Amino acid sequence: MKYKRILLKLSGEALMGERQYGIDPERLAEYAKDIKTITDKGVEVAIVIGGGNIFRGVAGASKGMDRVQGDYMGMLATVINGLALQGALEDAEIPTRLQTAIKINEVAEPFIRRRAMRHLEKGRVVIFGGGTGNPYFTTDSAAVLRAIEIEADVILKGTRVDGIYNTDPEKDEKAVKFNNISFDDVLRKGLKVMDTTAFTLSQENNLPIIVFDMNKKGNLLKVVSGEKIGTEVNI
Ligand code: UDP
Repeated sequence: MKYKRILLKLSGEALMGERQYGIDPERLAEYAKDIKTITDKGVEVAIVIGGGNIFRGVAGASKGMDRVQGDYMGMLATVINGLALQGALEDAEIPTRLQTAIKINEVAEPFIRRRAMRHLEKGRVVIFGGGTGNPYFTTDSAAVLRAIEIEADVILKGTRVDGIYNTDPEKDEKAVKFNNISFDDVLRKGLKVMDTTAFTLSQENNLPIIVFDMNKKGNLLKVVSGEKIGTEVNI
């Protein structure tokens, strides 16, 4: 395996499957199977999960809701997703711990860096819920922050497109995919990989990001074993 410790970022929307809202248990079970293929090979896996399938603070604010209140709702949504993912992983017999940036002691551990790293060393998957614990941030920022903290080798951003294109491939059939691209070129070309806060944090800490299609079975194992699928953003 090319990578020993990875941080996988899954958006909340990824959990919807074909639905318009909420969580699709079948999709979760498929993700769990894919994750098992890499934990079986000894790869240490941490996961940051989004909440966009349930609630986004910005969406609430656009309808007159207080932004901070909405952001806390969004953070709690990521905890709901984290619990669902933990259930699916444990159904697949992967020992899993959920740690949250906002304390909810009855259902999850609080985020403690050293403890998270110990779980990883013991072969447990660690899911980080609650984002960064702060309003005005995203779970992409949480993903980069946690990846740096736990000294992950790479961030794997599982999406429904198979990489980074020069234009939106869902709107433009002539869009061209990059296999590799530098952080500077992403910024120069104005490409959308993560929000700027998350992206520059990754750049400043030389943490590579690989964007790939997580919905294609077997892709996760390919990426982790070093096969060139998706797009790698590096220095
Ligand atoms: N959120 C937040 N702080 C964080 C992470 C998330 O306030 O550190 C809130 C924010 O309202 C965001 C929502 O949680 O819209 C869901 O997260 P995100 O939009 O990143 O989820 P994704 O797009 O990955 O599903």
